[in-house]
Amino acid sequence: VTRFVRAGGGSAVSDLGEQGLLDRIAARLDGPPRGEIWAGDDGAVIVAPGAGLVWTTDVLVEGADFDLAWSLGGDIGYKAVAVNASDLAAMGAAPSHALAALSLPASTPLVFVDALLDGMVEAAGALGLALVGGDLSSASEIALCVSMLGAPGPAVPVLRSGALQGDALCVTGRLGGAAGGLAALRAGARPGGDPTSDRLIERQLRPRPRVGEGMALAGAGASAMIDVSDGLLLDLARLMAASGTGCQVDPRAVPVDRDLEAVSRTAHAPPIDPARLAATGGEDFELLFSIEGGALDRARAALEPHGTPMTVIGEVTSGAPRFGQEELSSMEELGWDHLRNP
Ligand SMILES: [Mg+2]
Repeated sequence: VTRFVRAGGGSAVSDLGEQGLLDRIAARLDGPPRGEIWAGDDGAVIVAPGAGLVWTTDVLVEGADFDLAWSLGGDIGYKAVAVNASDLAAMGAAPSHALAALSLPASTPLVFVDALLDGMVEAAGALGLALVGGDLSSASEIALCVSMLGAPGPAVPVLRSGALQGDALCVTGRLGGAAGGLAALRAGARPGGDPTSDRLIERQLRPRPRVGEGMALAGAGASAMIDVSDGLLLDLARLMAASGTGCQVDPRAVPVDRDLEAVSRTAHAPPIDPARLAATGGEDFELLFSIEGGALDRARAALEPHGTPMTVIGEVTSGAPRFGQEELSSMEELGWDHLRNP
């Protein structure tokens, strides 16, 4: 596999120009159904997928959100679509349409843009949504901004603000894997090396948003929900603040990614503390939700067809948000803050 390097040979974006590149991208997109207009006009025309819409946007910026030392174009395209779908999943909504705005240096190799598009098309196909157009501009770094529409399921959208005192707090899947993958990459591991670090790296580079699970949990009666994008404790603090409640979370109950112990025995062993990564590492894109205790079996049954486990990690309370003995507000590190972390 030839990994992308900025000095790589072959044609660059500047050889095609803006219109040439737009045409090249448009040729990769599906055609619209009758009654809709996608790429090619000033705006896309779509038939609203439901009575209401959920609308989100998320931007990936070189340096801040991805590193070209280990991210291929395809990884970046895939992740840009996936992280938007994850925000819709956290509302219990089904992603339907996406627009993408791409800024890049004119010297960027065309093979990189082709791979980026491959990743976007792959993620859109896997998630059952349509890429309906976008825009291009030049910049000194690569940035890919996706905006995505979705339809809420039969249940109303699940908000962050609905947690009630006495509800159980739960999380899907296992945590810390994506942060472990990033730590492995930083320690020099690369895809195709050790199978253990490979799986963690996959979680970091190509996250799988819990779209079906989000809709299933909305139907099962989740009272509040958020996707774990910036770290369990930080997203927990957000959920509690929005709901105006506190919580008591048991640190021993947090489901830790099983490969985090094993990765410390690989060739490029990253210096990690598995329990700490599970609590504060970001980008797992699991769902953190609250639900009435009596509905836990219903939630488990709703997740079963997706093969996704859930774990009760604590309870919503009227006090302060607490993680074991500690109050979240007094803890040094909760997770990832774009505008605070160095
Ligand atoms: Mg989110």
